[in-house]
Amino acid sequence: MGGMSLFRDDGIVLRTQKLGEADRIITLLTRGNGRVRAVARGVRRTKSKFGARLEPFSHVDVQFFSRGSTLVGRGLPLCTQTESIAPYGRSIVSDYDRYTAGTAMLETAERFTDHEGEANVQQYLLLVGGLRTLAAGQHAPSLVLDAFLLRSLAVGGYAPSFVDCARCGLPGPNRFFSVAAGGAICVDCRVPGSVVPSPEALLLLGALLTGDWATADAAERRHVREGSGLVSAYLHWHLERGLRSLRFVQKG
Ligand SMILES: [Zn+2]
Repeated sequence: MGGMSLFRDDGIVLRTQKLGEADRIITLLTRGNGRVRAVARGVRRTKSKFGARLEPFSHVDVQFFSRGSTLVGRGLPLCTQTESIAPYGRSIVSDYDRYTAGTAMLETAERFTDHEGEANVQQYLLLVGGLRTLAAGQHAPSLVLDAFLLRSLAVGGYAPSFVDCARCGLPGPNRFFSVAAGGAICVDCRVPGSVVPSPEALLLLGALLTGDWATADAAERRHVREGSGLVSAYLHWHLERGLRSLRFVQKG
C-alpha cells in the first residue's frame, strides 16, 4: 500500500502545539476520522487567516494531505486547506466562564476519543452542539458544560440514572446517589459511600441529560453547584477507572 492521499473532513480544533519555528501540530475531533493530529505549516510566521482558523474551538473544514496509506501511519498528515464553518472561539474566549467551560469540553472530548483515526460521530456531534450552545450564550456556561459531560458519559456507555434505581430499577425519584452504583439508588440498594443529594439537584441533572433547558435554566444556583459536584465526581470516577484499565492493558 502506501502512497499519497488527500482527504477532507470537518472538525473542531481541540488544541494546538508549537512545532519548530513556524509550524503547529493541530489536534482535531473530526466527523469522519475521529481524533486527528495534523501539521499546519507556517501558521505562526504570519497572522494568516489560515492560522487564525486553526485555533481551539474553531469548527473548520480541512483538506488533509497524507503520505501514508492510512491516517495513523508514518508521519502526520498536513493541513493543506482550511475553511471556517463556525469560529466559536471568538465568543467563547471573550468570556471567562465560557472559556473555562469550553476548555473542559475540549479536554473531555479528547479523553473520550481514545483512538486516533477512529470515528466517533456521536461524540463529535455532541461537541459541535455544545460549543454552539456555549457560544450563543443563552444558558449558563456551567449548565452547558454539565449537559455536555453527562451526554458524553451516556454516549460512552456510562449513562447515569437520576430517577429510577440504577441497580434494581425501582421507579423514582430515589433518595440516594452512588457514583459507583451508576447514579440514583433506592434505600434497599444503598451502598457505603452513597450520598443524599437534594431532589432539585437530581431533577436538574435529569433535565440536563435529556435537554430539558426550561427546567435546567430555572434551577437555583446552589442546586446548580451541587449538581456540578455530582457530575464531576461521576466523570472522574469513570475516567480514572478507564485510565487504570488502560495501564493494566499496557503492562500485560
Ligand atoms: Zn434499588
